[in-house]
Parts: sequence; structure tokens; C-alpha cells
Amino acid sequence: MPMRDLSAGPRVLLKRLRELMAEPLEPQERLDRIVRQIASNMVAEVCSVYVLRSDGVLELYATEGLNKDAVHLAQLKMGQGLVGTIAASAQPLNLSDAQAHPAFRYLPETGEEIYHSFLGVPILRAGRTLGVLVVQNKAQRNYREDEVEAMETTAMVIAEMIATGELKKITQPGLELDLTRAITIDADGYNEGIGLGHVVLHEPRVVVTNLLNEDADKEISRLAEAIGSLRLSIDDMLSRREVAQEGEHREVLETYRMFAHDQGWVRRMEEAIRNGLTAEAAVEKVQSDTKARMMRLTDPYLRERMHDFDDLANRLLRQLTGFSGRAMDQSFPSDAIVFARAMGAAELLDYPRANLRGLVLEDGAVTSHVVIVARAMGIPVIGQAAGVVALAENGDSVIIDGDEGQVHLRPVTDLVKAYEEKVRLRARRQEQFRALRDVDPVTRDGKRISLLMNAGLLVDLPQLAESGADGIGLFRTELQFMIASQMPKLEEQEAFYRNVLRQSAGHPVTFRTLDIGGDKVVSYFRAQEEENPALGWRAIRLSLDRPGLLRTQLRALLRASAGAELKMMLPMVTEVSEIRAVRDLMQKEVQHLSKFGHSLPRKLQFGAMLEVPALMWQLDELMTEVDFVSVGSNDLFQFSMAADRGNARVSDRFDILGKPFLRILRDIVRAADRNKTPLTLCGEMAGKPLSAMALLAIGFRSVSMTPTSIGPVKAMLLGLDVDLLAEQLNQVLDDHRSNTSIRELLVSFAASHNIPLS
Ligand code: PEP
Ligand code: MG
Repeated sequence: MPMRDLSAGPRVLLKRLRELMAEPLEPQERLDRIVRQIASNMVAEVCSVYVLRSDGVLELYATEGLNKDAVHLAQLKMGQGLVGTIAASAQPLNLSDAQAHPAFRYLPETGEEIYHSFLGVPILRAGRTLGVLVVQNKAQRNYREDEVEAMETTAMVIAEMIATGELKKITQPGLELDLTRAITIDADGYNEGIGLGHVVLHEPRVVVTNLLNEDADKEISRLAEAIGSLRLSIDDMLSRREVAQEGEHREVLETYRMFAHDQGWVRRMEEAIRNGLTAEAAVEKVQSDTKARMMRLTDPYLRERMHDFDDLANRLLRQLTGFSGRAMDQSFPSDAIVFARAMGAAELLDYPRANLRGLVLEDGAVTSHVVIVARAMGIPVIGQAAGVVALAENGDSVIIDGDEGQVHLRPVTDLVKAYEEKVRLRARRQEQFRALRDVDPVTRDGKRISLLMNAGLLVDLPQLAESGADGIGLFRTELQFMIASQMPKLEEQEAFYRNVLRQSAGHPVTFRTLDIGGDKVVSYFRAQEEENPALGWRAIRLSLDRPGLLRTQLRALLRASAGAELKMMLPMVTEVSEIRAVRDLMQKEVQHLSKFGHSLPRKLQFGAMLEVPALMWQLDELMTEVDFVSVGSNDLFQFSMAADRGNARVSDRFDILGKPFLRILRDIVRAADRNKTPLTLCGEMAGKPLSAMALLAIGFRSVSMTPTSIGPVKAMLLGLDVDLLAEQLNQVLDDHRSNTSIRELLVSFAASHNIPLS
């Protein structure tokens, strides 16, 4: 084995490769010349490229040294043989006696048995394996570390060739490369609906086009400079006052700092530069290697750290390329489906609404802020889609199915057709609902039902006119607080409420006072960690303990409703005395405002939400204490069943249409009737035609729901004879021995009376 100039070797090779990439060659010719060049540079008898196909097979695409007839014929499955092992593990294999390795597999068509030494590296892009690059020698030898490094660098160039789609031309008809493989990811549907469109990565990957350097020293100093300013910016963030002394934010920044000072990381990038890469290509290479390795980890803590590392590498890439990193600054498709690991609610609002067709999150929870906002915007949302960002490229076609909780990346034509049909059906249905907009919501037996909508942001308000709702039955005021970066001031709150009232154009609006705490986190309002946040310091409890906060809100509400009617209600009331305490504060605010000559609301309606079971034993006191009651069935159900609404393992365990909960609701209706107190229900169950049907049968005459549910619920009630159903339902509820499933009873009632349920 002749000795070679260690530093010149890879550099010369990359220089040749750069020339080859620039030449106008047919792809097979280019690939053939590349392997020839590598073999000669590495003094290897064999150099081969295997490319991963969408069916999980690694196909020989080019070789120098093996039987040429085997090209496009020799195949190995992922995990099979040495090549398959490298692809599956995304790790290089460096062997002096390949045949002694347990995974060795003899492919007769290649004639490779005479070669002993074997070095194979994965061809990686953004942590994904696209193929395998191999060199082999007859003599037994161990390849040096710099040779492994040089091969990895070379593999990057081939990755680029695969990613640009150049190899498509030489791919056998009917087959596809893995990079363009159709993938379906099963996740959770957070908002229903179907979205067809193209991927927009919320944090777009920096595309490094300038791979190979002219002057390694210059690139090393560029890298050093970029790392220097990266470290400074992290220190700067850590020293800012708003970064709390502890907590998640600080933890992430500390991890960033640790990575940024990691000598191993810097050394590997410098090595890649010495091997011929530009500074940005070196960052990308080390990022991709590290990601490939970490992607195979199952420990959630370490996977989280992978995200941190990835973020840091992206920052460095942006620094080196001057790329802004904002999805918005790129050409933006008219049918964008935004992919993000996680996202703040305000960031989603930055996207042009008209172009948004859906949102896919790797993290998230149904109740996370961004999901609430997306729901308000009426776009389908998928959450908990693990690893989806790494699998997608900007501009990939995609279908998301919020009903089934699925993401179909690069879908095949048949699937697209099936979904287009589904979308057409949905549109026709929407059309029918729109036609009902001006139809009065009166049941078949003549009962006028008040159909209200839930809201919380200004983007929700146009839906009031579009849906034909009677008004807003629940305005979640905490959303304004949740999307703000600091506590909204009195003037901001007042302006916001004024705007809501103006846009509601005379329709009644029920404002709910701040319901923060629990799962509704406000970043600038840090409370102590709680073991059971749902049962903790939240909603009215927090407001009463921070009277300044509550009084500011009451003042803003009073001022915004000057001369009009103010309808407000309190969340999470547990004891009637809490209502009295707020009423006292309200009285003080009224006095304060009149003392300073402010005009007051024409009428004040003071209500409470019924969400805590303890109120079930204070029903008469409650009903006489307030002007109206609204049942928060989401919380009332979670507390009645002791089943966390945000925990998928238990949230569906008990049926909301089971006897216990319907009896609870019926008792509430009876108490309201007895006391002549207006009653509404504003939890999710109001928006589902089947459960809304049950609510009407047990006596509710007012329900509040997401605006898109108004149409389906109205379609249901127009065909419903409430008294007839009430009779059947009450019979089952009163019969202690009956095993009849109420859900089944409702479904069969709807079927036999032609009542639409979707
Ligand atoms: C409820 O609990 O049913 C409710 C409407 O309030 P939220 O979902 O905001 O807790
Ligand atoms: Mg609630």
C-alpha cells in the first residue's frame, strides 16, 4: 500500500469531484466517473455506490472494480449484509477482513469475494440515510481515520446529487428512490378537516450549495468567527433579565452553551474543512452525522437534547450563510401546510391566513395555545407527529387528515384522488350548512334553541356572521394573555374588548374572566410548579388571590362596554362565596368609574361557570346568586370522572353520554328551571350533533360551540322532535336496572327519524 499525502488526498479528490459535478454529464456517466475517481484517489480496487429505494432496497448504482453487469441488479435489503447494516445503523464500517463479519453476505453477481478490506459509509442528508458508499481492497488493511472522514465528506457530494433528483433518470421504471418515498405517519388529530398542499418547514433548513472550499485556512477562520459570535449571543441571552434563574428556557440555553463550547464538535467541523468542505458544509456534515446517530436513540431526554443540538447547528449555519431562517421570506405556496416541531401561537398568526391549509406539529397537545389558535382559524391540525420534520422537505406534496390523525407525505396519485373526493364531499356538506345559516334553529316540535359560538381571538369574529350563531356564549379572555409576550395593560385589554364588541355588531358576548393556570400557561406569569395543576391555583382562585389582576380586567370590561350590555362569567367556581367576593370587587370598580365620570354599561349580567362538582350541592344558592349559569362540560366531566382531559390514556375511558354524567347535567337543568335561571353549556360536547341531541333532550335550550359546529348541530336539531326523544331518554336514565346504552339509543333514534349526525 503506497503512502499518500494525508491532507492532499481528500482535497485533491474533492477538487476533482467539484469539476465532475460541474461538467454537463449524463447522471450514470457522472456517477461512474465519481466512483472511478474515488477508487483511484483512495488507492482502492473497488468503489461502489448503493442508493436506497423507496421499497427499502439498496441498489447498486455504480461501481469501479466489481462486475459492471451487476449495476442496477445487485440489491440488498435494509439491514442485510454489510451495506444494509451501514444503511440501517447510519454508521460507517471499517473492516480488514470483511468476510469474517457476521453480517457479510456474498452476492455472486458482483464477484466480490476476492476483496478483504472494506470501508463503507452512509450517504446522509439531514440525518436521513439515502445510500451507502463503499471502497474495498484485496489486501487486508484497516482504513485510517482520515480516510473514513474523507469518504464521509465525499458521500455528502453524492447525497447532494441524490437530493437534487438527478438520479431519477437512471432509476428503473416503476421504482422510486427513498427520498421521494410516500410515507404515512400516524399521529393525533387536534383539529378536524382535510388539508391538501405543500410542505412549508417552519424552520427551513439552510440549503448549503457551496460545498467545497478553495482555501481551508480561510474557512477555518470563518468557522471560528461564527462560533465566537454564536457563543456571545448565547451568553447574552442567558444574561437577560427575563430569563428566569431556573426553568425550561434556561435549561435549553445552558444546553446550547454546553454544545457551543464542545471541543469535539468544533474539532470534527475543522477536520471536515481540512478535508475540503466549506465552513457551512462542514457544519452541515457534522450535524447530519450526529443527527443520524441520535435519531436512533429512544430516550426522550436525549432526543430532546438532539433538538437542542440541531437548533444550535442551524443557528451556526444561518450565521455562516446569512440566511434569515424565516419560512415567510421564502417563496410561499398558496396551499401551505406548515410543519414545525413546536410553535408559539403568535408565530402561527404571522402566516398569511389565505395560504394556510394546515398545521403539523411534532409536539403539542390538544389544549396548547397554537392549537387553540389554529382551531380558531379553522385549519386542520395534527399533533404528536414524531420525526415528521426530518422526513419532509420544503415543497413536498402532503395531505393531512385531521379526522384520522394522519400525515401522508408525498402521497401516491390514487391517495390524492381519494382525498380530493373526500374534500369535495366535505365542501358540498359545508355548502349545505351555509344554506342553513339564516334558518332559525327551531326543532321539529317547535322549540327555539339558542346556538352560540365560542371564541377568544379577533380572528374568530368573522365566523359570527358566517356561522349564523346567535352570539358568543364563551369568550375565552385568557387567549389574549396567552399569545402576548407580556401582561396586556389595562388600555390594551379595554381596546381588545371594545373591538370584540364592535365586531360582534350587537350580538350578545359572554366574556369569561381570566382562566389561566392548569394547562393554560402564561409565560410571563410564573407560578410555582404544582403536582396537580388541574386541581391547583388557577382561574378564579388565582384571580381572587391577585385582586390587582382581576380588578384591571373588570375595569377594562366595564369601560369597553360603556353604554352597552356587559355579560361576564367566572370560571372554575367551587363555592358560591367566591362569586360574592368578585361581585364586591366589581362593585368597587363600578364606584371608581362613576366617581371619575366614566359612563357605565347599560346592563350588567353576572354569571358563573359550573365546572366543579362541589357546586352540585349548592345548586339553588348558585342559581339565585347569579344572572345565568354556563356549564363547562370539559372540566365538569374531567372532575366528575376523575379523568384528566389532557391525558389520552384516560380522557376517553368514560363515556360523556353515559348515565352518570347525563344525570348530573339533568340535575343542573332542573335546578335552573326551578330557579328560572338562564342556562347554557359551552364545552366540546355541545358541538357534536349526537351529544348536542342528548343535551336538548335533557332540557338544555342554549348551547355554545366552535363556530364550525353550528351548521352540523343546526342540521340535527331541525329534524329533532325533542319531546319524543326526551321521553325515551328519561326512561332509561330513571331505570336503575336498565343496561341500555344511551349512545346506541341516540344513534338509532337519529337513524329511524332521518336526523343527520355529521
Ligand atoms: C369547559 O371546561 O368546558 C370550558 C368550556 O372551558 P375550557 O375548555 O376553556 O376549560
Ligand atoms: Mg373549563
